Amino acid sequence: MSMTELELIIDLHRQTDRQGPGSKEDTLRALEFVDLPANQEWAIADIGCESGGQTITLAEQGLAHITAVDLFDPFLQELNERSRVAGLSNQITTQQCSMESLPFGQESLNLIWSEGAIYNMGFLEGIKAWRKYLKEGGYLAVSEITWTSAIRPQEVEDFWMGEYAEISQASHKIAQLEQNGYLLEGYFCLSFNSWLDNYYTPLANGFTAFLERHEHSERAQKVVHDTEAEIAFYMKYKDYYSYGFYIARKAS
Ligand code: SAH
Repeated sequence: MSMTELELIIDLHRQTDRQGPGSKEDTLRALEFVDLPANQEWAIADIGCESGGQTITLAEQGLAHITAVDLFDPFLQELNERSRVAGLSNQITTQQCSMESLPFGQESLNLIWSEGAIYNMGFLEGIKAWRKYLKEGGYLAVSEITWTSAIRPQEVEDFWMGEYAEISQASHKIAQLEQNGYLLEGYFCLSFNSWLDNYYTPLANGFTAFLERHEHSERAQKVVHDTEAEIAFYMKYKDYYSYGFYIARKAS
């Protein structure tokens, strides 16, 4: 059976530990800004978890209980397997659903986590829609593509306007948080190494096996070619954009 391009992209990505820029260090750094009462079970949602690099890191800190949500079931199966192997199954529940219609009750969560995923519904829509699920004093920790410079070459500007027109500078995203019932607790920008070591390098290392698995089909070659182009683009323009990590608390 021949796979669709989306299935191929999923197959290429599920082999790697992380499916977006980020790292264990970044997750832990963001978590430092979250000050919730100790010795208490926290209700956490990890939205757009994919195969759960960050979910595992959160669970390893003894945080419970985490409901990890993604639109695609193969990623959740992978996460279930990883949780089992790590002995963290009782802390992590996976649930297939859209971030646009989450299964959580009003004011039921202490912490909403989401790395590199909120763009699927848009940052502004996401922060507005998710606020109601947070308990009073609950936290939101999201990473989002962000301009790191106010002056940008036209090519990088045009590329991102086509991909995701909501990209903006951190100052603008922070203002959106402040205008929509959140208090900023922390912000930092993912390093160059978080993009390369944990995302692009492992992806590129998987190209050969991926092409072999799919018998060098035209579609598989296209997926590799597109990914190579994305990496080259990043290398050229990495000084102008990155992922910003925004940590905020629900204002009463
Ligand atoms: N948090 C992971 C994955 C980021 S990639 C990491 O940082 O490594 C974005 C994820 O969002 C993918 O797993 C994709 O399947 C998921 N996704 C896309 N649209 C979605 C939607 N509407 N609802 C929930 N998840 C979605």
